[in-house]
Amino acid sequence: MKKREVDVAVIGAGTAGLAARREAKKIGASVVLIEGGPYGTTCARVGCMPSKLLIHSADVAHEITTAGKYGVEINGQTRINGKAVLERVRRERDRFVGFVLESVGNIPSEEKLAGYARFERPGVLIVDDHTRVEAGAIVVATGSSPWIPSNLSGLGDRLLISDDIFELEDLPSSVAVIGMGVIGLEIGQALHRLGVETLCLTPSSRVGPLSDPEIIRKAIDVFGQELDLHVAVKDLETNAHDEGITLTWANRDGSRQEATVDYVLASAGRRPNLARIDPGKVGMPIDERGLPTFDSRTTQVENLPIFLAGDASDYRPLLHEAADEGRIAGHNAARYPDVRTFTRRTPLATVFSDPQIGVVGKGYRELDPDTVTIGEVSYDDQGRSRVMGKNKGHVRIYAENEGGALLGAEMLGPSVEHTAHLLAWAVQQDLTVDSVLRMPFYHPVVEEGIRTALRDLAAKLKLEERLEPGCMDCGPGV
Ligand SMILES: Cc1cc2nc3c(=O)[nH]c(=O)nc-3n(C[C@H](O)[C@H](O)[C@H](O)COP(=O)(O)OP(=O)(O)OC[C@H]3O[C@@H](n4cnc5c(N)ncnc54)[C@H](O)[C@@H]3O)c2cc1C
Repeated sequence: MKKREVDVAVIGAGTAGLAARREAKKIGASVVLIEGGPYGTTCARVGCMPSKLLIHSADVAHEITTAGKYGVEINGQTRINGKAVLERVRRERDRFVGFVLESVGNIPSEEKLAGYARFERPGVLIVDDHTRVEAGAIVVATGSSPWIPSNLSGLGDRLLISDDIFELEDLPSSVAVIGMGVIGLEIGQALHRLGVETLCLTPSSRVGPLSDPEIIRKAIDVFGQELDLHVAVKDLETNAHDEGITLTWANRDGSRQEATVDYVLASAGRRPNLARIDPGKVGMPIDERGLPTFDSRTTQVENLPIFLAGDASDYRPLLHEAADEGRIAGHNAARYPDVRTFTRRTPLATVFSDPQIGVVGKGYRELDPDTVTIGEVSYDDQGRSRVMGKNKGHVRIYAENEGGALLGAEMLGPSVEHTAHLLAWAVQQDLTVDSVLRMPFYHPVVEEGIRTALRDLAAKLKLEERLEPGCMDCGPGV
């Protein structure tokens, strides 16, 4: 077995691992980057990018099939060429992956190791059966994988995970999507809009990353108008046979339902890839949910020379957070035992459904109801949203009772990918309801809906608005 000695070993060449390596190198550490699977990152290969490519085709199809309501008649039959849709997804996806491969290609070969790493003892890794790596500190950036519930595990080739969708040669004729978290909602709605008969089932009574009961209720109502959506289902059973998969389940009202589909897409959440590194060998602590415990400001695990970054920590399994955690982990691993505390950004999560979903800053579940006031707006009559035929949604913004500092928001509506950014930036800048209301709002724009929610907050907090209402405030549907 070969032997390597380095300051820092990084396990996983995803977004977090690549960022960790870069940061540790900047500080002057000797680093080895260990990757067991293909290079290219989850984001580019099977995550953010291909899913958004699929969603964009679905949105184009939706615009065309609903064009009649704007008086635009499309002559002839609209046909969705599933093969062409998926070919474009892969072509563009490969282009994004190519950029990552190019940057990985620039890493000197002696600084990379191919194979799966596992702990032998503190500070020592075994990579496959070919190399023993001794490192001063180790960054675990091993990402996550889809979790398959036991009632779906015996479905063979008819069971898909999100990775598989992008590799299909053609769109299937029917799919049951199990789980309506971010990935299930995004892919389920996209498949539906691309003409796939889509059944959406979730044992949860929530959808997406939402926790605010008002926004959840609205989201279930809005998505339920478009999708064959069943929430809070119980006793789901599946039976694979020659014609497909037959699913039976109990709906919320207790009624038993049955459907047969070609495929089942398991979107029941993702779990950190930790089993393979044998965390027990170094006493890595695991919480009651079976997830690793670590300090999100340092990324350090207990007081071990081990730093967790990206989806492997399950703290905020999002791309920009993986990059941040990678940088923090790389910095602290390179300087170990001099471990520095970093301030994390304001949380920001977006779901690319239609309408979009956003969670900013503190979500509803983190609020102390005694110290918080909630302002809200319905997007059902919001002016610009109605102009665009996208007037569906509801936004709730949370502010401190004392002083009106913005804390966070849960959002469902059009262009939330943009309005959520505005609110996240305002929260991070410690802005108050009053100070945001003093900034400009153009007319007619979806941001006016955010202003309505802020004004609701101002009224409830009894804040005096310093700008007199202008004429546009009397305009329609702001
Ligand atoms: C369908 C989908 C859509 C998504 N959409 C979005 C989005 O729109 N916006 C957003 O912010 N996020 C999105 N995400 C999440 C985002 O992709 C992830 O948060 C991010 O890619 C995680 O990066 P990472 O570096 O932690 O993991 P990865 O990129 O998965 O890297 C981990 C690497 O570790 C390697 N590895 C694992 N175990 C070992 C081992 N023992 N030894 C050696 N190597 C190992 C793996 O092969 C892998 O290459 C999406 C994810 C999915 C699946």
